[in-house]
Amino acid sequence: MAVERTLSIIKPNAVEDGHIGAIVSRFEQEGFRIVALRMEQLTRAKAEGFYAVHRERPFFNALVTFMTRSKVVLMVLERDSAISHYREVIGATDPAKAKDGTIRKLYGKNVEENAVHGSDAPETARFEIGWFFTGFEVA
Ligand code: ATP
Ligand code: MG
Repeated sequence: MAVERTLSIIKPNAVEDGHIGAIVSRFEQEGFRIVALRMEQLTRAKAEGFYAVHRERPFFNALVTFMTRSKVVLMVLERDSAISHYREVIGATDPAKAKDGTIRKLYGKNVEENAVHGSDAPETARFEIGWFFTGFEVA
């Protein structure tokens, strides 16, 4: 198994609801090493660029408004098969369809306010990590 990195975001609803500690703790229990971590309120430009692949989707504007409404926690996480394992731990995009015990099932409100983001492939992980962190921060 190859060691990989993934970009994790704890989204505004989970930060507002006081779940940062529980979510970070879960990632550590799952064997992820925290390579970098920062709290930040995203600008619209930063959120729009991050979600550029979704710009033609009907939910794009609402998604950007949600992601910029209060602070998020940005993290780079590392472990064997980080991308696929992280997505198993967070569960399906829609919390109503996520398996019991997954982070989205536990802390998500609906398909938009679904508590966390995770990269979906090695190339997107590279782009997403570079969007938020300098080479020095993830060295
Ligand atoms: P993420 O990229 O945040 O990890 P994902 O890969 O599970 O989530 P995507 O299809 O990439 O899902 O959608 C990105 C985000 O856009 C979702 O996490 C969610 O916040 C929002 N979103 C997706 N589908 C919808 C929808 N039908 N209505 C509203 N918001 C949506
Ligand atoms: Mg996605």
